[in-house]
Amino acid sequence: MNALTLRHATAILPCSLLHDARIEIALGRISKVVPESANPVEADSIDLQGAYLAPGFVDIHVHGGAGADFMDGTPAAARTACHAHLRHGTTTIFPTTTTGPFERIKAMIEAVRTISKEAGDNCDSLDISLPAIPGIHLYGPYFAADKCGCHEVSGRRDPAEPEFRGYFESGFVRIATCAAELPGAGAFYDAARAAGCLITCGHSNASWAEMRSAFDAGMRHVDHFWCAMSSVSSLRPRLGTPMQAAMEQFVLMTREMSTEVIADGCHLAPELLEFAYRMIGPDRLCLVTDASRALDCPPGRYKFGHFETGSDFESDGHVGHAPGGGLASSVMGMDHMVRIMKRDTSASLPEIIRMATLTPARLTGMADRIGSLEPGKFADLIVLDADAHIQHVMRSGRFVF
Ligand SMILES: [Zn+2]
Ligand SMILES: [Zn+2]
Repeated sequence: MNALTLRHATAILPCSLLHDARIEIALGRISKVVPESANPVEADSIDLQGAYLAPGFVDIHVHGGAGADFMDGTPAAARTACHAHLRHGTTTIFPTTTTGPFERIKAMIEAVRTISKEAGDNCDSLDISLPAIPGIHLYGPYFAADKCGCHEVSGRRDPAEPEFRGYFESGFVRIATCAAELPGAGAFYDAARAAGCLITCGHSNASWAEMRSAFDAGMRHVDHFWCAMSSVSSLRPRLGTPMQAAMEQFVLMTREMSTEVIADGCHLAPELLEFAYRMIGPDRLCLVTDASRALDCPPGRYKFGHFETGSDFESDGHVGHAPGGGLASSVMGMDHMVRIMKRDTSASLPEIIRMATLTPARLTGMADRIGSLEPGKFADLIVLDADAHIQHVMRSGRFVF
């Protein structure tokens, strides 16, 4: 791999913009991020003419795209979905399971692992048409029955040791979700901690006390804030009075907790995005796509989860709708989420990019390799125009698009 220099970029650093920046790349890694100087450049160089240069996005919660759902369970489907997200600027992806039988979830893990080897681990990329795939997000099946949302309810269950051992033994689960109130959640969190996962609670109607014991077992993150999550009012029918604090209060009050938002402009109103940014902050808040297979597809009816046995939803081209009137995940890529945060919140561009890059990289233990424009990190980069539309995507120092 040859050395390459990107010149006259507006580099989006974690806390600031570096105007007229020069970024040198060698052997697939960033070697220098410096102000442009008059000195001649020896290596091949590309003039970005002031365009934004950012680290590639890191998506920790994503179900599919371009017609494929990771739960389809084939390498071809996983490849299709991953490739679609790379086009939207995601250079590191954690394919996400949903509810379904053990065999389907196992098939999904194996299919994704197969293509992850083709994608390479950045330092030795074999196929740059794929994002890096460090592992999967085991999201379903351990959801609370009353918080399944658009996921197939018949495919949910309580965590059982022999089953979840079967997933963790793959060594490929990097993020692990379980609703905190389920019987067996403690044992699940223990196994997830032993496997080195980011442990998260989602699709849950957990109380403060249940969140507290989950936290003691290593849980540190909550999936898609405000979606399929307990609130003071949702706990009242379950636990009566006095009214009790819920997941929302637990995340806001506990500095060690992180969470994520689906900033597609359809799930959360602008004031909620602004609230999340200001109250939780860019170092504890991730942007996720939570995208379904309907990403980059025309409006119509689709399956969430496996293409035959998943649940039905309808995409209107902006968001997915579940039959009961609820939402069924986003149909947008991470570049869209960045544009919505830019439009709907007071967050600065470096903060918005950080929520889509360095923060999720740090939470998944990858910040030493990816997530910011710093020497030594992999040259997984994106070039954005003034409106944050993707112009180019680079994997390991090579342009993909
Ligand atoms: Zn969900
Ligand atoms: Zn999801």
